[in-house]
Formats: sequence, C-alpha cells, structure tokens
Amino acid sequence: MKRIITVLIMLAVILMVSGCDTAKTDGEHQSTEIISLAVQPSSLEMYAGERRTFQLAATLANGEVRDLTSTPDFTYSSSLDNAVIVESGYIQVNDSILEESIEVVFSSNGRRDTLKIKVSSNPITAFQVTEEGRALVNDASRYDVVVNKSLHLTSEYVPENLVIPAVAFPESYQGALEKMHLRDEAATALEKMFTAAKEEGLELYAISGYRSYSLQDRIFQYQIKRHNGSEEEANRISARPGESEHQTGLAMDISAKSVDFKLNQTFADTAEGQWLAENCAEYGFILRYLKGKEAITGYQYEPWHFRYVGVELAEMIMSEETTLEEFFMNLSTQ
Ligand SMILES: [Zn+2]
Repeated sequence: MKRIITVLIMLAVILMVSGCDTAKTDGEHQSTEIISLAVQPSSLEMYAGERRTFQLAATLANGEVRDLTSTPDFTYSSSLDNAVIVESGYIQVNDSILEESIEVVFSSNGRRDTLKIKVSSNPITAFQVTEEGRALVNDASRYDVVVNKSLHLTSEYVPENLVIPAVAFPESYQGALEKMHLRDEAATALEKMFTAAKEEGLELYAISGYRSYSLQDRIFQYQIKRHNGSEEEANRISARPGESEHQTGLAMDISAKSVDFKLNQTFADTAEGQWLAENCAEYGFILRYLKGKEAITGYQYEPWHFRYVGVELAEMIMSEETTLEEFFMNLSTQ
C-alpha cells in the first residue's frame, strides 16, 4: 500500500512537473516570438554589380535580439524583379541595372523591414560609342566619373559652378586664370584640405585645376613639339583633348615651395606630398596616378595630381591602394 501511495505521489509529481513544462514551453514560445525586424543599414547607395554586407536583426518578445543575417529564417523581395541577390550576409545589385531606386523588403514571421537602395550605373560601363569609335562618358558631371585614354569627354563639356578656391597659388598667377578653377564642391573640399595641412605647418600650393578642351589641345600640341613630334611620348605625360580629367573640374595639381612649385616626382618625397598621400581621402580626394599602375591608368606616377571623388569613395579607394579604374572593374568582388 505504501508503495502504491509512493508511486501515486511520484506520478502526481511527474504530471505536475510535465504540466509545468507544457506551460513553460508555451511561455517560451510566446517570449521568442519576433516582435520586430531591423535591417542595417536602412538605406544604401550602390553601383550596379556591387556587393555589400548588411545585418538583419530580429527582436524577440523576451527582449533578446537574434541575428538572422546568415540564416534561412527570412525571405526578401525587391520592388524591381531580379534587382538584387541576398546571400550569406551579402546583398548584390544586378549589374545590368542603370539609375534606379529599389526597395528590398525583408520578412520573418510576419514582421518586415525595408532597405532602400539608390543604384548608380558603373562609371566605366556608362558610355556611348560614337561613329568614329570614341567612347564618350554618359554623364561627365558625376563626381565618380572616369575619364582616361579609353573614356572621353566631348569638346563641348564645360562643368557647371566653376569657382576659384580660396587657397594659395604661386605668386606668378595674376588675375583669374582658367586653371585656378574647380567645381564648387571640389573647391570647398580643397580649401578644407589646405587649411588642415596648414595646421600641420605645411604650405600647399594649387598649381593647375580646370582645363578646357581647347587649353588641353594647346598643351598637348606643345608636348608633341617638346617630344620631337612623338604623339606617343607626349601622351605618356599629357592627355589628348577630351581625355584629361582636368576638364571635369575635379582635379588639382598640387605642389610646394620646396620643389619650386614644380610638378614632378620629387614632390612625393616632400613633407607636403607625404601628408597629402596620407590625408587626401579624408577630404574626398584620391591620388589618381599611382606608382606601378601606368598600364592601368595610362599615365606615369603623378604624386601631385589629386582628384575629387567624394569622401566615401576616396576612403575606399585610398585604403585599398587601388586606382579608380580597378575599383570600378572589381566592384562585384569587393
Ligand atoms: Zn594633373
């Protein structure tokens, strides 16, 4: 009898415990319910073909935050068919998309969040070929425009809002010379960069900025004469008209008193040249023609030539020690 009572008590205990368990499971189920979903970042500016990381986090009823990014626990859809692929923590924009604004909606357990993506075409594929076989860039006014020996500007292109930045120019410059100009945003960035250098005790001088198609033509003809009529030799150091990024109003050649305001490779060894190479990206500029990259850029090393591309792009390019051309060629593998 005693044994039966013990068994009954044990059964009751088991039932109570399992009953508790059931209640606990229900409670747990409720507490692990997703109450909100958040995608980070919530907006992105991306190039067609570009791949970026993102984070998808679910907040549960019990306050816990769960990372869903690399799990199969969510679905997504985009406002434009086949515009993006989301996989293993990356989001990639289809490389055939031109300028477009896309919304990607992430869902899990009925909760949603939206990532807005502003897509720009890749500058190295955004061109049209003329009857003569020249590739003309579609939009020369972009801050990320690529102009080189393959991608050209028209003879008519003159940037809007050219201004003279409030920076030091060599004393020999009298009046408002064409080459003192830059596009306004690049001019403001240049002013900030020169001010920051000055605070470090370095005096930078702006030597040559905007160059019109016709001035570039005159410079190129002069360089041909200097190189005994060799267009090829002249083209190693000077651009053909339409092929110079000085025509964009986004490039400035910079020098220092210690090298007599000259534009040559000794500038790389000066304190000014070194400071610029290290700090230019913070102001949106890149060192455009790197050492050892002549086969890619088409130009020799030019430690004095700085090109404005905006801070975000400049920081990516300078930290990777790459060229503008390679950056856009390798977008899908970054
Ligand atoms: Zn230059």
